[in-house]
Amino acid sequence: MRLVRLIANLGYGSRKEVAWMFREGRITDPEGEVLYADDKVEHAQIRIDGEPLDPPTGLVLMMNKPLGVTCSRKDPGRVVYDLLPPRYRVRSPALSTVGRLDRDTSGLLLFTDDGALLHRIISPRANINKVYEATLAQDLRGDEQALFASGSLMLESETTPLLPAALETLAPRHARLRITEGRYHQVRRMFAATGNHVDTLQRSAIGGLALDGLAPGAWRQLEASEVARIF
Ligand code: URA
Repeated sequence: MRLVRLIANLGYGSRKEVAWMFREGRITDPEGEVLYADDKVEHAQIRIDGEPLDPPTGLVLMMNKPLGVTCSRKDPGRVVYDLLPPRYRVRSPALSTVGRLDRDTSGLLLFTDDGALLHRIISPRANINKVYEATLAQDLRGDEQALFASGSLMLESETTPLLPAALETLAPRHARLRITEGRYHQVRRMFAATGNHVDTLQRSAIGGLALDGLAPGAWRQLEASEVARIF
């Protein structure tokens, strides 16, 4: 029963369904030997349909978020959780996005069930760069780099100025921006504060972790060495 509960908690099915998976021989060890529900085996030795079992905690996924989906759990439209296998929507502990991207922003989005890790990544005090590429409706004026780096830019309806951010000009209407905060619509509002408008926005990296060729909508589990690259 211990294994049935463990696997059901990870969202692979109800206890009844997981018990069936055992009977069908879908749960094996790494060599393909069928496991039984009352076997005593280490988590790392369990395979379901040949695939390693998700970790019980400390799961980290990266996705290339496509345009048109929201990071919310409850939204009448499509949400990022719809792009993941159903087990990730019901597993315990729950999986959350690490910060959010707007519906109209694409790019690197992380998910984790580890609250401490989530906090370490999004806390402004952790000073982790979030890198965005923006295409703009109008040419850059030329003073944006100094303004964003100043640490004195105040966004509308905010009470504290933004922390310094680094702007790189890639073309007259194309910029790369590194920020360490995650305020509401921050990048769009920063360019709006300069009289410009962001036409497209993509997050390309978080710390030292880059999107690395994932197709829009695709996702994968991160290994510990990849998570370490964030910091
Ligand atoms: N800044 C924005 O304006 N939108 C995002 O989705 C992320 C950062």
